[in-house]
Amino acid sequence: MSKILKLAYGMEKSTGFNYRLAMEEASRCLLCEDAPCSKGCPAGTDPAKFIRSLRFKNIKGAAETIRENNPLGGSCAWVCPYDRMCEEECSRCGIDKPIQIGKIQRYLVEEEQAMSAKFVGAGKKIGKKVALIGAGPASLACARELAIAGVDTTIFEKQAKAGGVLRYGITPTRLPDRVVDFDIELIKELGVKFEFGKEIKFEDIEKLKNDYDAVFVGVGLWDSKKVSIEGCELKGVESAIDFLFKARTGEIKELPKMVVVIGGGDVAMDCATTARQLGSEKACICYRRSIEEAPANIDEISFVREMGIPIYTGFAPEKICGENGRVTGLVAKGMKDDNEMTLKADMVIFAIGQEQVEEYKDFVAGDGVFSGGDALHGVGITVVESVCEGKEAAYQILDYIR
Ligand code: SF4
Repeated sequence: MSKILKLAYGMEKSTGFNYRLAMEEASRCLLCEDAPCSKGCPAGTDPAKFIRSLRFKNIKGAAETIRENNPLGGSCAWVCPYDRMCEEECSRCGIDKPIQIGKIQRYLVEEEQAMSAKFVGAGKKIGKKVALIGAGPASLACARELAIAGVDTTIFEKQAKAGGVLRYGITPTRLPDRVVDFDIELIKELGVKFEFGKEIKFEDIEKLKNDYDAVFVGVGLWDSKKVSIEGCELKGVESAIDFLFKARTGEIKELPKMVVVIGGGDVAMDCATTARQLGSEKACICYRRSIEEAPANIDEISFVREMGIPIYTGFAPEKICGENGRVTGLVAKGMKDDNEMTLKADMVIFAIGQEQVEEYKDFVAGDGVFSGGDALHGVGITVVESVCEGKEAAYQILDYIR
């Protein structure tokens, strides 16, 4: 039997590349003309360019290519689904296996930090100011582009720290705080101001419009999708986003013995590994489709398996059982047959997607108010897609305020 991986909560999952491994991997690159990998990044990062620089031992130039284009280049290097983006497009897929672009990017960002390199600077002030609501990926990207263009920017964030989903919705094993901190530090150094502990209500937007030249709404999605099966009101039923938030803020002191997570995305994988790391004796995942159809990154699925967490596929939750108002189990039904299984559980976590908080459900952008990221779509998008939208919104804001 293979050994079960044990990793304390907050410990980093993988060590990544050193110089030798990064150079070896870069040497496999075909240096394609019109490189397909560069078209696979929603934020327009150019892997072909930074890999070419690395091949010529120009580490600084390679790191600059990443940072100039992507304000959250460090965080993206840890959480991007590379296998479905740039790496999927890589020409080497047709030969043997794709270049590990994600790991090369991670190495280069680590080098950038070690060099204390500064690749972008704040622009000459143009006498305009913009308020941004929420300090998640879209707002951070938007604020950086505005600061480069000389706009005074203030981000209002109701939590104590910046990062949004990067900080509070992803387990630190998958995305360490130090990586998020570094990305944010570079943005702060451009003069972007942060006001923490400031919740901006929907009705406050009008007031902000009077005080600022434009407003960007990047509030993210912090409500969980609801399920209406029997027993979902029982004590011990949690939403994934609440569970991960409580884990990140240290609110979870003790976990019950058996945790069942419902879902097949990265968030479901994060919940299961977090449950085990924070002390539950057993955890498992119940997903209604096949593992091949699961939206989770293949690395996250492997990590879950390495931790000895079973994933039951092809089963949908039917009802949650309980006694004295508390969860005792989950009954799940086969999606393609009449099979039924009952899982013992003291806690059931639903990781089936997020939605907009009630407060912002009726929000519509326009008339000096812009938006981007999850808040704009009403469904979760990737961090790199949020970065792209934050940057796009910044260019629209610049057109508007000029
Ligand atoms: S597609 Fe692959 S082989 Fe070609 S430049 Fe990009 S990383 Fe290199």
